[in-house]
Amino acid sequence: MDYIFALVWIYFNMIVLEDLRKSYGAIKALDGLSLEVKKGELFAFLGPNGAGKTTTIRILTGLTRLDSGQVFIDGVDIEKEPLTVKRLCGLVTQHTNLDGELSVAENLDIHGRLFGLNRSQRREKSEEFLHYVEMSDRAGSQVKTLSGGLKRRLMIARALIHSPRLLFLDEPTVGLDAAIRRRIWSLITKISQAGVTIFLTTHYIEEAEFLAGRVAFIDRGRLLETDSPRAVMDRLGQWAVDVHDGEKAKTFFFGDRTEAGKLIGQHPGAGAVRRVNLEDAFLAKTGRRVD
Ligand code: ATP
Repeated sequence: MDYIFALVWIYFNMIVLEDLRKSYGAIKALDGLSLEVKKGELFAFLGPNGAGKTTTIRILTGLTRLDSGQVFIDGVDIEKEPLTVKRLCGLVTQHTNLDGELSVAENLDIHGRLFGLNRSQRREKSEEFLHYVEMSDRAGSQVKTLSGGLKRRLMIARALIHSPRLLFLDEPTVGLDAAIRRRIWSLITKISQAGVTIFLTTHYIEEAEFLAGRVAFIDRGRLLETDSPRAVMDRLGQWAVDVHDGEKAKTFFFGDRTEAGKLIGQHPGAGAVRRVNLEDAFLAKTGRRVD
């Protein structure tokens, strides 16, 4: 019965990680990480620097071998069928890795070739996804002439060209200004609504709060918590007051706004009553800020 349950579990989730471990010498990058991501979910993976996020993505996308544990993607064991898994996944890396000397269309074409698309499929898919990311008018532009935001959108189009069922977005808006970041958020939402499962890492915690159906907090290669952003925040309360006491700052949480207001009268260093946010939840769980 346990075996049947495990099969059903693996089949109904897009990602299943079981007791994943990876060390670099004495450093335990992943220390028994287990989690699952449901099909069609927009899942955000959050943790401070060195928590193990990139290592996880590298293992899931076949760029790094795991030491022990199991990974299933869309029911396929990554160790047994790495090439099948690669075809199921699209990856937008943290750092821009486009060929700046080539045109937008040429960058897409090369990627399509890597995934075995024939010439007409490559042309058709390039047009489709350039239209999708609203860059049809830039097909002939040399990539090095594009702005940071356009390069990101091109990387997303490129990652979609072989129609993956699962898209990894590793810091998709890093270094972009607030307006461009929101434009990328709209694009990510559109991709998610089209049914693609999205695994997102970000240092912009409000990005996860805005986009994700579910978040996971990890630190030191272990899962600390996973739930919807709302549920994670509600465990603290709805309202917060930051109190600055000399060098230190402490945050108090309340279910009731009036109670929060009373604290302000009692502490000269108290700020205004504000809504609890996801960063509060992360900090409460880990004692560390995402920065
Ligand atoms: P960041 O937010 O800074 O990108 P992260 O959560 O992605 O961090 P990882 O890059 O996965 O964290 O790193 C996890 C741990 O493994 C860190 O202590 C890191 O220094 C170490 N590590 C990662 N890759 C290597 C490597 N190739 N060689 C040695 N140590 C590594």
